[in-house]
Amino acid sequence: MSPSNLDGIGMTSARTRERLIERLRAQGITNEAVLERIRTVPRHLFIDEALSSHAYDDTALPIGFGQTISQPYIVALMTQALIDGLEPGKQIPKVLEIGTGCGYQTAVLAPFARHIFSLERMQPLVERAKTRLRGLKINNVTVRHADGWRGWQSQAPFQGIIVAAAPDTVPQALLDQLDDGGRLVIPIGGSGAQKLVCITRDGDEFQQRRLGLVSFVPLVAGMD
Ligand code: SAH
Repeated sequence: MSPSNLDGIGMTSARTRERLIERLRAQGITNEAVLERIRTVPRHLFIDEALSSHAYDDTALPIGFGQTISQPYIVALMTQALIDGLEPGKQIPKVLEIGTGCGYQTAVLAPFARHIFSLERMQPLVERAKTRLRGLKINNVTVRHADGWRGWQSQAPFQGIIVAAAPDTVPQALLDQLDDGGRLVIPIGGSGAQKLVCITRDGDEFQQRRLGLVSFVPLVAGMD
């Protein structure tokens, strides 16, 4: 990442970012720390330069390999749900993220977690995400090339799990690896009919709350 890349945030871009924040507020994002994080993470560095004029639009964009960078509203909504009730300045000890993609959601979430363990099934995306996160000096993330259906047993339990691709049913491994009192934010369902839910663990009970309708790529079993 060249310095000019980081500097390329002129006035226009600052205004464009502000418009995005206002839009997220209007859509019901209320957590100021999350809004501030969306304002400061340079989303244009996570996408192809040819698309950078759309970096602060509230839309998903292609990142290659048939995958997309998540829509800022959805990233904000999922982050807000995961950290709900967290005292300002406190961090969730361990977060598991499934579907690193370009690493944008990871970067937004980074200050709210002591450590993020992130799994991605496509090797080229793993490498790019690692490079970008390093470039942004985000050092509390471990990205691994693995199948998220299995979670990350050796690092469990997690106080937070966030999933950026949709399975038909919640993978049992993720429920098993969720700490007592922990939260799992995950889209569920086939293409076109997915609901985003927040599942909270209370002993052996799992409470589910609906956050809205969404459209994610499928959580594919196995690796590329
Ligand atoms: N939040 C990401 C968006 C990721 S898109 C971002 O901000 O860029 C969803 C990602 O999930 C894709 O990169 C896809 O390759 C990955 N994925 C799909 N199935 C998976 C699985 N079983 N394990 C790990 N990653 C998976």
